[in-house]
Amino acid sequence: MKTELEDNKVDEILINAEQLSKRIAELGTEITADYDADDEVVMVGILRGGIMFMADLARHVDLPVIFDFMDVSSYEGTESSGVVRVIKDLEENIENKNVLIVEDIIDTGLTLKHVVDFLETRDPASIRVCTLLDKPERRTEKQVEVDYNGFEIPDKFVVGYGLDYNEKYRNVPYIFVLKPEVYE
Ligand code: 5GP
Ligand code: MG
Ligand code: MG
Repeated sequence: MKTELEDNKVDEILINAEQLSKRIAELGTEITADYDADDEVVMVGILRGGIMFMADLARHVDLPVIFDFMDVSSYEGTESSGVVRVIKDLEENIENKNVLIVEDIIDTGLTLKHVVDFLETRDPASIRVCTLLDKPERRTEKQVEVDYNGFEIPDKFVVGYGLDYNEKYRNVPYIFVLKPEVYE
């Protein structure tokens, strides 16, 4: 039996719950292996889309982990200029700390570039980037370096597992494409 959501809203499931959990466990293992066992890692989740991913990823990272969050927003209509506003800053002092930025999706890369530049000024010991999804076709910001990438996806607008359309669908446990009529 299909759910109401699947019947009426889901055009295509791109990544199901099982694929997500398998890949996220792999990423956690990879991250654990890349740091020294006693390295403290400040995971910086980018609100709000990154929270599901960060919660699941962190359970697979066998290191001392601290949680912190940032909220950023792109100025409407100035996407190409890369103007990004910090709405919520970190609570932690990251000087000499290992920072792992946890993002839901990298599209043009502008948001990420801004966040990395912003955090660099505080002299962390390291900054690495982990994203669940990547749309490589859309990248305009070539300087951003992504250390961990869950899935490369085509240039489609996706929702679910943290990602929203008008703040909805974040709680859906898989990544999907909405039916076109939902946007109308
Ligand atoms: P960028 O600055 O890399 O162009 O944009 C990144 C942000 O745009 C993401 O963190 C996310 O909030 C939003 N975004 C980009 N692509 C998608 C998508 O396919 N679905 C959703 N829900 N948000 C997206
Ligand atoms: Mg995001
Ligand atoms: Mg959004």
